[in-house]
Amino acid sequence: MKSIAYALGLITALAGCGDGNDASPDGAGAALSAREQSDLRHMREEEKLARDVYDALDPNGQPFVNVQDSEQRHFDAIGGLLVTYGIDDPAAGNGVGVFTDAGLQALHDDLVARGAPSQVAALGVGCAIEELDLHDLDVARAASDHADVIAVYDNLALGSRNHLRAYFDTLTAAGGGYTPVAIDQATFDAIVTSPREQGGR
Ligand code: ZN
Ligand code: ZN
Repeated sequence: MKSIAYALGLITALAGCGDGNDASPDGAGAALSAREQSDLRHMREEEKLARDVYDALDPNGQPFVNVQDSEQRHFDAIGGLLVTYGIDDPAAGNGVGVFTDAGLQALHDDLVARGAPSQVAALGVGCAIEELDLHDLDVARAASDHADVIAVYDNLALGSRNHLRAYFDTLTAAGGGYTPVAIDQATFDAIVTSPREQGGR
């Protein structure tokens, strides 16, 4: 495990992490603030929530099945940062639908129940998860000054915008509608009326 963390730390250093620290295998974790660490832990479980809710809503067809794979990659990307910085993984040992954070557990259970009745209900839940992700990624990004962390957040946000487009397009095609609650309407509209973006770097 340590050698993996060390390798990732080296990659981080080569990618130009802004702090100018040397890539000491034991010192990497100290470079993140407590806030940055708690944000990474939260986003780790929030990506798991997206994956697990979409898994539960699978019977509603596409785009749920495709987006799950993407959420797994998002979950893994945050997991890589947890290893790099030596942060305890809140998702360790938790199966599908199980969360360490009580608030995310309650949100997961509520969203699965809300999405279960119909395809339109499920697509609304997809929009709700993606706009919440975009809000939380934006807040976490603003609280980080680490280039490697920010790059992951930016990549996840790009994915979330594409997921939001997919859910909203399918929802409106099915005769449904959606009003955002976590991000403002103008931001929401700008996303869903713009083309799908090509994958991150
Ligand atoms: Zn995601
Ligand atoms: Zn997503």
